[in-house]
Amino acid sequence: MKRRTLAGLLSATGLRPLLASCLPPRGILGLNYHRIGDGSRSNLDRSLWSASEEAFDRQLRYLKRNSEVIGPDDIDAARKDRRSLHVLITFDDGYLDNYELAYAALRRHDLPATFFIATGFIDRPRLPWWDEIASLVRALHRGTLDLADWLPAPLAVDDDTREAAIQTLLATYKSLPAAQAAEFLARLRTVTGGRARGGRDDLWMTWDMVREMAAGGMTIGGHTINHAILSGLDEDEQWQEISGCAARLERETGRPMRYFAYPVGGRSTFDAASRRCLERLGVRYAFSYYGGYTGAGAEIDRYDIPRMPIEPYIDGDWFRAIVQLPRIFCRRTQA
Ligand SMILES: [Zn+2]
Repeated sequence: MKRRTLAGLLSATGLRPLLASCLPPRGILGLNYHRIGDGSRSNLDRSLWSASEEAFDRQLRYLKRNSEVIGPDDIDAARKDRRSLHVLITFDDGYLDNYELAYAALRRHDLPATFFIATGFIDRPRLPWWDEIASLVRALHRGTLDLADWLPAPLAVDDDTREAAIQTLLATYKSLPAAQAAEFLARLRTVTGGRARGGRDDLWMTWDMVREMAAGGMTIGGHTINHAILSGLDEDEQWQEISGCAARLERETGRPMRYFAYPVGGRSTFDAASRRCLERLGVRYAFSYYGGYTGAGAEIDRYDIPRMPIEPYIDGDWFRAIVQLPRIFCRRTQA
């Protein structure tokens, strides 16, 4: 049964609270967001909008009532407390709406969160590859994309197939080593006519905003410089991305980078070299992104702390099921 259907059924029948009292939620649950607001008309990657302003506000209210919302500095204490559910609210990348909408809502509810920043986007505002891919395909009225070196068949783009085509291209990009991914994107620019729009002035936070959030009780963590998929790089290149990010964060916020989130974050996106780089820098915890949660008393891998993606299709019943029944609704995925 689909998780949304199951969550709806458990809610309608009143079984969710009953089950939650038999399987009380305990441990540490990481939630991950990217953007807040309405992306339904954006020419960028719409899957990045995790929740509307209203939905995010409802989620915060629910978390405040039903869990202990913590920052990563509290993880050690939370591991010792085996009776409560501790929730980490995290955001990746550094989009402007994180400051304008998410931080504003977190302040209203007086809740902490962690923002993992790809420092290159703040220093040199530009479209990241996922938004560029979406924008290139949206600018194309209709056509067939021939990417013979990478896709088994030409990809048709029209109003009916556009969103599926974007998802296929994003998945292809993520599967490639860094050099080939750059070639793939260059080829996509050529075959689409290269008309990506946006990304300079209004996409990312500024360092002033980041500093204000840090002063306001938010934790700022690292997410590389260029949002590189680390496992596609050799160890020297990984070191440049991770240590360069740490140096920029420390210079701008005055605090060392103690926490890190792997770009993309699936099982195959980081490796032993990534862990060695984090260790050398004294990073305390690093977060992945393929589902899961840490049950009370469970062993943790400090460089693979699980997080659950929060997506716009996760409705209220589903969100409450994630929080109340993590043992059922927060499984780790294979990818
Ligand atoms: Zn990211």
